[in-house]
Amino acid sequence: MNRKERQEPLELKYFRFLEGRMHLSPEEKRQYTNAQKGFEGEITFDRWIEQNLSTDHLLIKGLLLEHKGELFQIDTLLIFSWQIYLFNVKNHAGDYYINGEKWHFMSGAEIKSPLLQLQRSDFLLRQLLRKLGTTTPIEPSLVFIHPEFILYNAPPQFPIIFSSQLNRFKKKLNSKPSKIERKHEILVERLVSLHLDHSPHTRWPDYDYQTLKKGVICVTCGTFMSEKERKWICSSCGNQESNEAAIMRNVEAFTFLFPNAKITTNTIYEWCGVKGSASKVKRVLSKNFRRFSHGKGSYYG
Ligand SMILES: [Zn+2]
Repeated sequence: MNRKERQEPLELKYFRFLEGRMHLSPEEKRQYTNAQKGFEGEITFDRWIEQNLSTDHLLIKGLLLEHKGELFQIDTLLIFSWQIYLFNVKNHAGDYYINGEKWHFMSGAEIKSPLLQLQRSDFLLRQLLRKLGTTTPIEPSLVFIHPEFILYNAPPQFPIIFSSQLNRFKKKLNSKPSKIERKHEILVERLVSLHLDHSPHTRWPDYDYQTLKKGVICVTCGTFMSEKERKWICSSCGNQESNEAAIMRNVEAFTFLFPNAKITTNTIYEWCGVKGSASKVKRVLSKNFRRFSHGKGSYYG
């Protein structure tokens, strides 16, 4: 049973809403791609769990926890009555090697050791679970979900599951009887209630309203769309979107990027780069929000 939906990381949301509206440096583009790949890997593993496990279990998708002032992240927590699995999921592809404690690309450049990260999460989770009174054993694992990932020199005792080992891992998990009881449910409720929405370490590009490009961006290809009566049309890929869907999608971006700004017909008209009559914006806002009058103007909320 799934006990918490996976949320899109905040970092990824910023990039998704800013992409196309501003210039991203190569470093920022790399950060964006890495965040996207990481999230896709986590979702792939969620799907794998949902499609392959046949015994009683509880699943928590993504936890950001704090213990004694230290923040730590758990990509996936899988609870059986006989074991708790802590998974950190990696979506690296290509050839890597290990040299002692250090992890490298084949080219030689060093990467941050995923193992150290896992050990830290494991250490803090154990302390937290002990505090919560859980005695179920915990096993930490790195899951390399991408089928084209190779890690040379990896010692067999490392807590790693490669994608080519998932099938055997499934058999192992399904071969042991598991019965979820109320105490496991309580543990999961406690952990989910301790989950923090976002890390103070999240980084995203600096932006300001004036310099961001205004308009409606195609979800399929990232090109700015043009309006045509009650539709928005992408000249690059042919994608069409109803006026309401396009405006609402852009209101979501606007309120995310500018949480303190008021939603008014004028601001959304400008943000979406509408050329024609403002009534098409007003119609969508009045349909989807409550209207508040405020002196001469009015806003939606
Ligand atoms: Zn398009």
